[in-house]
Amino acid sequence: MVDPVGGAAAYEGLPAPTAILITYGHGDHFDVPTLEAIASNAPIITNTDVFGKLPKDLKAQAKALANGEDDSLNSIAISAIPMHNITADRVNYHPVGVGNGYLIILGDKVVYVAGDTEPIPKMLALMGIAVTFLSMNLPYTMTPEQALEAINTFRPAVVYSYHYNVK
Ligand SMILES: [Zn+2]
Repeated sequence: MVDPVGGAAAYEGLPAPTAILITYGHGDHFDVPTLEAIASNAPIITNTDVFGKLPKDLKAQAKALANGEDDSLNSIAISAIPMHNITADRVNYHPVGVGNGYLIILGDKVVYVAGDTEPIPKMLALMGIAVTFLSMNLPYTMTPEQALEAINTFRPAVVYSYHYNVK
């Protein structure tokens, strides 16, 4: 699971997560009660900020990655890459160096979860992405035009637009 929030009821009937990635400390990405209800023993990778906010029991199963660091979850290679705003009046929402986007390397397929970001150079330089999840809402992430430009630049094979209609 990536950024599970919304309370335990939202996950009723779903299998327990086998691994959890957390991109950012905002409440639409990180919610301690939800994690406490559903995380069980799943290993967790977070950014450093979220790691510092985890209660002791969840911290024991979590690792913090900085932008550019690599690790693994259940033998699946994970790379943390930057996610941040670049437009001057939006950088306060997601400053440089705090949040993590993630590359999830599944054999020869790479899944890219962008997190709350604008089209940063690291994103635009990606190659061979099989599936990407791109956030799209203002003022926090991308305009539809920015998302389209990004897609046409790094050319992921499959795109899921997400994180729109977020309050
Ligand atoms: Zn968000």
